[in-house]
Amino acid sequence: MAREQVVFWQAQAPAKPAFGAPCNGCGLCCLAEPCPMGMLISRRRKGTCAALRWDDAALQYRCGVLQDAGRVASDAPAWRRGLGRLRLALARRWIAAGAGCDAHLRAEPAE
Ligand code: SF4
Ligand code: SF4
Repeated sequence: MAREQVVFWQAQAPAKPAFGAPCNGCGLCCLAEPCPMGMLISRRRKGTCAALRWDDAALQYRCGVLQDAGRVASDAPAWRRGLGRLRLALARRWIAAGAGCDAHLRAEPAE
């Protein structure tokens, strides 16, 4: 049975693409609930992921985990670079970055 959930969604965010179409950063999946990595970071299993960020310039949502992992400096200690790569790999695996949208969600304006 369909479940309804109200989320605050940036008015300038792109519309959610069809299932399987390239991810456009609409953010709806992460606004609805965190992925496994997001659950660890947010310390909750429901609601908007704490790592979700709005990018004013790109007018898209971004995954803060991916952004932070990508910023790990090359001169950082080896263990920290390893952690960055691990988080990047895990986040990519869970949100299927580079693949199609895997969220079965439908957005409707709130009344
Ligand atoms: S996976 Fe789908 S719902 Fe999630 S941000 Fe990308 S396009 Fe939006
Ligand atoms: S992809 Fe990133 S922002 Fe989205 S739920 Fe997972 S950790 Fe959070």
